Amino acid sequence: MDGGSAKYNVVVSGNNDIAVPFDQQFDLDDAVTMPENLLSRHQAVVRLVSDMPAVNHATGSCSICMEGLSESEGGGSRQVSCGHVYHHDCITDWLLNGNSCPLCRHEISG
Ligand SMILES: [Zn+2]
Ligand SMILES: [Zn+2]
Repeated sequence: MDGGSAKYNVVVSGNNDIAVPFDQQFDLDDAVTMPENLLSRHQAVVRLVSDMPAVNHATGSCSICMEGLSESEGGGSRQVSCGHVYHHDCITDWLLNGNSCPLCRHEISG
């Protein structure tokens, strides 16, 4: 009746020192040097234009888009340090590609 003894063959793996290969090296420098040059350039131009004096009742036309300065949409008009007046949005876009006045080549720097 009784007497059935079960025998277990416990297979113990003696492989305790499994070496995990460190083939994935996490380079922190790559994460820090994000390509944000374009973003910082845009922020610098926006800051530069916002420091220009605003012209509320400008006459004439913007030499960038040839639209009348009185028809400024949104941002209004800004006077550059050389005295020329452009739309806020126009001079912002212009300065993203250069740093001089479109009319007289006066250097515009922050
Ligand atoms: Zn314009
Ligand atoms: Zn100028």
